[in-house]
This record gives sequence, C-alpha cells and structure tokens, in this order.
Amino acid sequence: MHADTGMRNDFGRIFGIETEYGVSVTGADHAVDAGQVAMTMFQPVVSKARSTNTYLTNGSRLYLDVGSHPEYATAEALDPKDALLQDLAGERIMRHLAGGAQQRLRAGHGDRATIHVFKNNVDSAGHAFGCHENYLVRRFVKLELIEDQLLPFLITRQLYTGAGRFAESGFQITQRADFLDEAVSSATTRARPMINTRDEAHADPESYRRLHVIIGDSNRSQWATWVKLATTHLVLCVIEDAVRRGVPSGFEGLALADAAAANRTVSRFLDDRQACLTVGGGNESNGDESQLTALQIQRRYFDVVEAFVRNHGESIAAGLPQTSPEEVLDAWQWALNALEQGNIAVLADRVDWAMKYRLAQAMRRRDPRISHAGLQRLELEYHDVANGRLYDSLVAHGQLREIVERRRADQAVDRAPQGTRAALRGMFIDAAQRANAQYSCDWTTFTLTSPVRREAVLLDPFSTAPTPDFKALMAALPVDE
Ligand code: ATP
Ligand code: MG
Ligand code: MG
Repeated sequence: MHADTGMRNDFGRIFGIETEYGVSVTGADHAVDAGQVAMTMFQPVVSKARSTNTYLTNGSRLYLDVGSHPEYATAEALDPKDALLQDLAGERIMRHLAGGAQQRLRAGHGDRATIHVFKNNVDSAGHAFGCHENYLVRRFVKLELIEDQLLPFLITRQLYTGAGRFAESGFQITQRADFLDEAVSSATTRARPMINTRDEAHADPESYRRLHVIIGDSNRSQWATWVKLATTHLVLCVIEDAVRRGVPSGFEGLALADAAAANRTVSRFLDDRQACLTVGGGNESNGDESQLTALQIQRRYFDVVEAFVRNHGESIAAGLPQTSPEEVLDAWQWALNALEQGNIAVLADRVDWAMKYRLAQAMRRRDPRISHAGLQRLELEYHDVANGRLYDSLVAHGQLREIVERRRADQAVDRAPQGTRAALRGMFIDAAQRANAQYSCDWTTFTLTSPVRREAVLLDPFSTAPTPDFKALMAALPVDE
C-alpha cells in the first residue's frame, strides 16, 4: 500500500520552503568574515559529501552557493505542517553546524568567538536575501493570472506573515519591501521580483509548474510559516478550480496597478493603517481602477475562499493529511479580525512583526532613549537560531506560540515527509550513507556515483511507489556490513 493521495486529488499540492541564512561572528580575537564562517560551518558537509551541495536523509537539500548564505531547502511536502516541520529541522541543522564551527573557530580566535546564524532576510550592510516558497501548480494556470490574482494576496498577506524590521526610516512590518521592485521575473538577483518565473517544474512540465514565490519573509513564528503556506494554498485552489471550470474565481478586479509600490505601502502599515492600494490594474485591466486598503483586499480573498471551502472542503481536506481547511480559515479570520479591530497586541504571540513591535515598546518603556542600534540588536537576537536566546525565552514564557511538538521537529532532522517522493530520496540516501557509497541527487534524479554508477529518475513528486529504476538503484548499493 502506498498513499498517492495528492496526485489523484485536484487540490493536492507540493510545498517546499528554501531558507537562506545570514551568518556572522562576534567576540573573536580578530575579524572573521561571513564567507569564512559559512565555509567553517560546511567543513563536515564537504568532508562527507565532497561538495558544498548535498541532500540529506530527510530528503532536503543543504547547500552553500558562492557567497556566505547557507541554504536549506525542505523536501517536498504534501501539507503545510510537514513543510513547517522540515523547515524547523533546517533550523536545527544550521544550529548544529554552527555549534561545531564555533568550537573549531575558538581554537584560533579565542574562547569568546560566537557564531550567529540569522533566519532573517536583511543583513547589517543592507543586503537582502531570501526565503522562497515553492508551490506545485497546475500548468493550465497562466502566469498572467498568478500575477493578477495571486500577487495582490501575497502582498497583503504580509499583514499577518511579515517578519518586521527596524528600518532607518521607521518600523516596517516586512523585511524586504524596500528591496523588491518587480512583480514577476525570471531572474532572482539582478531584477528583484516577487515571483520568479524561471521554469523548472521538478515534475512533469506538461502537467505542472513550480510556482517560486520570492516575496515572503523568513518566519520564526511557526504559526506564520504554516499560515503563509496554508492560506496561499487555498487561494491557489480557488484559482486552479476556476480555470479548470472556465468560470470567474471571484478575485477579478484585485490586480494591483503598481505591485512594488503597494508592497512598500503594506510594509508601512503602522504609519497609516488606512492607506489605500490602487486595484483594477494588471494584465486584464479595463481601466476601472479603485482604491482598497490592504485589509479590505485580504477580506475579499477571505470571503471568496471561505465560500469555496464550504463547497469543496472535503476534496481539499483529502489532499492535506495534517491540516484541515477549516483550521486555516479560523486562523486567517482570527488575524483579520484582530487587524480590523486595531488590536495589534493580541497578534504578538503568532505574528513575528507584532512580537517585534511589542518587544520594542517594552524596551522603550524601560529606556526611552533606546537607540536604533539597540533595537536592531534585539531584532538579531530574535532571528539567531544558533546562539539567540530570545525566541526560546518567549516560548517558555508563553508569549510566543509553537504549533508543533518539539519532538516532531527533532525527528524531522532525519525523517523525510511522508506521501511524496522525498520518502524515497530519504530511503536511498540513508541506505547509501550506511553502505558508505557516494551519491548525488537533484529533486528528480537520484544517482549512485560509486562503487557503480546507477540513476533513477522520479518525475512524479506525489508518488511514493518505488519504480523499477529505483529498485535497481537500491539493489546496486553495496551490502551494509
Ligand atoms: P534557487 O532559488 O536557490 O536558485 P531553486 O529554487 O531552483 O533554487 P532549490 O533551492 O533546490 O531550488 O529548492 C527547490 C524547492 O522546491 C525545494 O523546497 C523542494 O522541496 C521544492 N520542490 C521540489 N519539487 C517540487 C515540485 N514539483 N513542485 C513544487 N515544489 C517542489
Ligand atoms: Mg534554493
Ligand atoms: Mg529558490
């Protein structure tokens, strides 16, 4: 028996989160640059995998591109909660690598050398880096529709998913609004788009595309990570279903006239909560523009999705092994209600920016002259998954919620999500490591490189059935002693 749930379900989806981390060292006897820190962290990876690019027994990818931002890309998950668990596993893996690196570093740089690994998106020099969300979307959905009907959602959802930032110019609810300047583009570096259109499906390209969302912040809040994927999933279900049936989705008329400007406005939500965005633009524009606040746009999305779930709840639920659509609606509505009531304080135990804002207020009460640098230190402490204590202390004091048990996140470090091909990848890698064999992977291909060369291509991310190729690959592994 195997559970190919997603594929046979119109609403099944694959989720993946890529997180780039920022690294730095404090307390060292002499300066260590970020590139050096990252390489020190990756020493054990390189000695094991002979490369800074590797896949792990939980099916995920761990790598270091040129530059100094270690990245962890979660294995394919069927459910936002699985993706969350995998992302938390990534935090643990980074903390572990940093712990080892810190020990090695202290030998040459003094006992106080401390490595910081930030799960955030902007460094002190003002460079932005990413958190990418990946969603498998049916190929029949055109990118223009994604831009017109999904992008306004992605921009306004930041009201409850933004990670917040103490910018020079004041507090913003997102990290990177000032760094993103194009709605859709196929490059991620030169132009800075919100959705990357580079066409790599990691699946049958005739049937699917991989939607590569660049606009989101990295979250420390588990609730935010989960809700960001889960609400986006439901909006995508509505869009896909409308195209499938050839009917309007209900999201018509919400396309933004200027996405980058709208994004910057949303990010400054606390400066002007009634600020309006111009909608009615986009690819389908008929010239009828109107003005809506970010919250009003969110409410429109919510209402359409709620009605849709009422009609299709069971089919949607069948594609999600761990999350119920109603639970997503409840969480979403709760956040919108709080925002509409102007009750920012109540958001703080779930919404990263609201937590940061609350911490800043508390600090200001204690020291009215707290400097901008002081606030930024507080912020970095919150994002530091290696040596930061603030996040854990907030959780311990019941001020920040966790929505999954720690034990499950610990287990996800070497356990692949179930129900996708990641389970097969994990099985292969685990066996290859036990057998001391050399292997390499990408998302669709698993390769044994030594002692013999053998390859298996698994194009269907929803399938956990061992193909003949996969069986041959496993059979080619040397016997475990
Ligand atoms: P980068 O943006 O860093 O240049 P990338 O986005 O092309 O690279 P990876 O960093 O390798 O790629 O991450 C790919 C992500 O896509 C992973 O989280 C993975 O789980 C997810 N993924 C794999 N296959 C699919 C699929 N068919 N549909 C959606 N997501 C997928
Ligand atoms: Mg990546
Ligand atoms: Mg990416």
